[in-house]
Amino acid sequence: MQNRNQLYINGQWVTPSGRNTIDVINASTEEVMATIPDGDENDAHAAVAAARAAFDGWSATPPAARADYLRKIHEGLKARSQELAEVIAGEVGMPVKLSAAIQVGSPVANFGYYAKLAGEFEWEEVTGHSRVVREAVGVAVCITPWNYPLHQIAAKVAAAMAAGCTVVLKPSEVAPLNAFILAEVIDAAGVPPGVFNLVSGTGPVVGEALVRHADVDMVSFTGSTRAGKRISEVAAATVKRVALELGGKSASVILDDADLGAAVKGTVNACFLNSGQTCSAHTRMLVPESRYEEAAAIAAEVAAKFTVGDPFGGTAKLGPLVSAAQRDRVRDYIRKGIEEGAEVLCGGPDAPADLPKGYYVQPTVFGRVKPDSTIAQEEIFGPVLSIITYKDEDEAVRIANGTLYGLAGGVWAGSDERAQQVARRLRTGQVDINGGAFNLFAPFGGYKQSGRGREMGKYGMEEFLEYKSLQFKPGAQGLAGKAPY
Ligand code: NAD
Repeated sequence: MQNRNQLYINGQWVTPSGRNTIDVINASTEEVMATIPDGDENDAHAAVAAARAAFDGWSATPPAARADYLRKIHEGLKARSQELAEVIAGEVGMPVKLSAAIQVGSPVANFGYYAKLAGEFEWEEVTGHSRVVREAVGVAVCITPWNYPLHQIAAKVAAAMAAGCTVVLKPSEVAPLNAFILAEVIDAAGVPPGVFNLVSGTGPVVGEALVRHADVDMVSFTGSTRAGKRISEVAAATVKRVALELGGKSASVILDDADLGAAVKGTVNACFLNSGQTCSAHTRMLVPESRYEEAAAIAAEVAAKFTVGDPFGGTAKLGPLVSAAQRDRVRDYIRKGIEEGAEVLCGGPDAPADLPKGYYVQPTVFGRVKPDSTIAQEEIFGPVLSIITYKDEDEAVRIANGTLYGLAGGVWAGSDERAQQVARRLRTGQVDINGGAFNLFAPFGGYKQSGRGREMGKYGMEEFLEYKSLQFKPGAQGLAGKAPY
């Protein structure tokens, strides 16, 4: 048990305003692994005041100096990688080796990347008789989910700090312990007080108090579409900038000339990673009608190799789901799929054998799923793959685009050329071509109800920047002057 009873505000660990706490549950043992403060409005306001007070100084700090702090945070996180991987394996349930590689590897890399970018970025340019200056938006509130908790935090916090924004972070109350370690690392890096603040608590209380606050300039949110809509409503009252990374129901489109073995295997992997709790998971596999039987057999065989078990045991590919609520929700969806008449090719709604404790769900593959059925339309956020058949390429594109979401997807074809042509027709923010993988430097975000704005790479930092145009008289001396850094 590692109890956390303080919040990080204005460069100090401070006692929260109230006494309530939230239990953090270990997903595989169901035991309380720690408690954190259940912050309130007063805590939110104190954090915003600190961030506001620090903004002028931090935004005027030369980018190269901001980069030095980010580099120290990168080193600090790296030094605590194993501890972080174990904490996240406990909170989220992802096997510890995968947690180390993905859940920790990515945020470590991201702090390093934004350090480099802050030093290299073109902060100003001249167009006609104007000098266009990029400036920090201001105080940025970052609200994050539990599925890749530190990755999602780093994507926002590193980019915001590089841009010159000051930050208030409200991490997921389900997997918050990694955020407390990040706050310790930031403190040890000597980042000036108020530049980064951490307030834990629930969305409706701390989250909404931050989103509503008139001194906050921007909200960067990752989470459910439901909460994203609510945040947009609350933020509208003060016309805040809002960036939203929301849910998904991504399709993997397998064309008739694709290498079926590789395509099906790649799709099952892209669906089941992190027990399906990945916003960009390829949860719908679209196959030509003529190749359905073959594809279904391969999918069932590949899925059966996804052994479920203890994230600390060393052999399991899939750990438990994050919580009892999530497990029950996913099992209900599996029951719904059966009710709606889909074929169960493997798995099902029952608990996996020999795992009496932990929020485990059997990896499940459904065949002959109707494109408009519930399991093909709603985000399940569990290890559940739906195979859907199509007659021709146009129908495949129509089905792939036929949900409220537009976050990710994949196209598999006999050539990259053909796959790319189909990928261009998908209304979605990123498409993996013949098994191409996630790229930390490419823009990540959604079309339609999957969100607004982009994270990662330079695109992610630009979210936290304003444009300012300085208009000169044509030929004026100021136009030729150099940027202050
Ligand atoms: P969630 O929306 O329940 O919670 C996310 C965060 O928002 C938490 O910190 C929560 O406390 C806070 N929150 C909830 N209601 C709020 C409110 N009214 N005001 C302010 N804050 C509020 O989501 P979750 O269950 O933590 O995460 C799962 C969801 O996140 C899935 O739908 C998934 O697709 C999505 N997700 C999207 C991406 C992406 O990049 N597009 C990445 C990961 C997860």
